Amino acid sequence: MRKKVFGSSGVEVAAVGQGTWDMPENGSRLEGARQAIRRGIELGMTHLDTAEMYGTGRVEEILGSALAGYAREELFVTTKVLPGNATYDGTIAAARRSLERLRCEYLDLYLLHWPGSHPLRETMRAMEHLVEVGATRFVGVSNFDTDEMLEAASHLRAVPLVCNQVLYHLCERGIESDLIPQAQRAGVAIVAYTPFGRGAYLRSPGGMRTLERIAEKHEATPRQVTLAFLTRFENVFAIPKAARVAHVEENAAAAALELDAGDIEEIDRAFPAGPRGPLATL
Ligand code: NAP
Repeated sequence: MRKKVFGSSGVEVAAVGQGTWDMPENGSRLEGARQAIRRGIELGMTHLDTAEMYGTGRVEEILGSALAGYAREELFVTTKVLPGNATYDGTIAAARRSLERLRCEYLDLYLLHWPGSHPLRETMRAMEHLVEVGATRFVGVSNFDTDEMLEAASHLRAVPLVCNQVLYHLCERGIESDLIPQAQRAGVAIVAYTPFGRGAYLRSPGGMRTLERIAEKHEATPRQVTLAFLTRFENVFAIPKAARVAHVEENAAAAALELDAGDIEEIDRAFPAGPRGPLATL
């Protein structure tokens, strides 16, 4: 699995990781989902993303059970605090609850899930405290546009802001013109969520033909080409979610795929980035 330095953390993290939103929370598909996560880890997709919001904590519990038996230092575990909980004390309490559900002694990365109404300075002070006491190694934000991201970074004194997790897929490339380069300069890793765009690109027949052509050339699949395209920037990572082993195996293999300049140009033409607009979210 290809790893890259994760912003100013200095730590190397798998370029293609695993998301967990909408994981089956019970029933017969749950065990399959747990196996999928474990297969992904074995294939090097050790970059794992969850949130206290997912299944109101249930998904953190499932992820925690899936992680049992792995060396903790081999994993890079991210979770997120809900904006409604993100007061100073609320952030610290939410992190403690997440740690318990994940059965982890520490998080690798703790994010504010999206900008909320509690003062950002307070949330970031709490984040700093969590690093100081060893509850998380690194901190960041999610769904923050460039100015908001830089503001969040400005509230941190002792630790850097290392991540902004945002929507990024072939039909939503608005972050390429400003957010990605600014984040690169600020030492912030961009983590692309919903990299398959909830099927948006599958609905573009011309675009699909391009992906299929490039995939065939590399003996790969259109989804692998998609992940390789999104993670072509030095500071961009992707976290596709897959609750099936076959899907995880396909996604993991994307990290080995190297697109050439001609491929990138073709994809660029098939899925034009369009003008910069406000940050898109789900
Ligand atoms: P996604 O990863 O783009 O797509 C997930 C869907 O694609 C699932 O239905 C999955 O099916 C399917 N899939 C995955 N790999 C496949 C493959 N190789 N072949 C065919 N189908 C495949 O969307 P997402 O879950 O919205 O985003 C990924 C992660 O980002 C989330 O899980 C979450 O961790 C994070 N996220 C964060 C935010 C935020 O606000 N920060 C928002 C949304 C998502 P199966 O599950 O059946 O395998």
